[in-house]
Amino acid sequence: MNPDKFLTVKQKTKGAASDQMNSTAGALPQGRNALIGLGSNINPESNLVKAKDLLAQWPGIHPMAFSRLYRTKAWGKTDQDDFLNAVIKLETRLEPLELLGALQQIENMLGRERLEKWGPRTIDLDILDYGGLVLQTDRLVLPHPLLHQRAFVLVPLLGVDPDWRHPISGLPARELLAGLPPEEMEPVEQPDLWD
Ligand code: AMP
Repeated sequence: MNPDKFLTVKQKTKGAASDQMNSTAGALPQGRNALIGLGSNINPESNLVKAKDLLAQWPGIHPMAFSRLYRTKAWGKTDQDDFLNAVIKLETRLEPLELLGALQQIENMLGRERLEKWGPRTIDLDILDYGGLVLQTDRLVLPHPLLHQRAFVLVPLLGVDPDWRHPISGLPARELLAGLPPEEMEPVEQPDLWD
């Protein structure tokens, strides 16, 4: 799969594979970079914006870049509404488990219910990568164990971090994406919503 096909004309003429980049002014001293995957298929526009805003206000978290929103077919359990997915690159002073705790609090604040595996969800927040750390505990696995298999993660990830490499295999995200079967995915044009 060629991620360039998901870029708008505007982005192509800018010549950058990266999505909306924010200023790094005010970045946290001694912060670590982390990549967060966001997904929702229940009022997805509203829930993704709320999650983004809560992340931006969270103490110790400084968002650096927001990917575009992508509409994607549900994965695993297909008889449900389409998802909107995005990736946020952030800098954080939080330790990995603290960051996971913050994401889970945000999920709870947005009313996430875990009714069934792969089922509809108000919001799903995953730590895709935390500074290249490789970790395997009961609560947290880093990098996220499924990220290299999912186009709906890799495409927005490339938008915020085009040079990212998988911490275990060392393979660039672009190469990982090229190995995946094509999937139905379309960028969502909602600049006012996400900006
Ligand atoms: P999910 O239902 O996909 O949101 O999975 C949530 C569970 O995955 C939680 O119990 C987390 O403790 C666990 N988990 C393990 N690794 C991660 C990760 N990298 N990001 C988010 N949740 C994780």
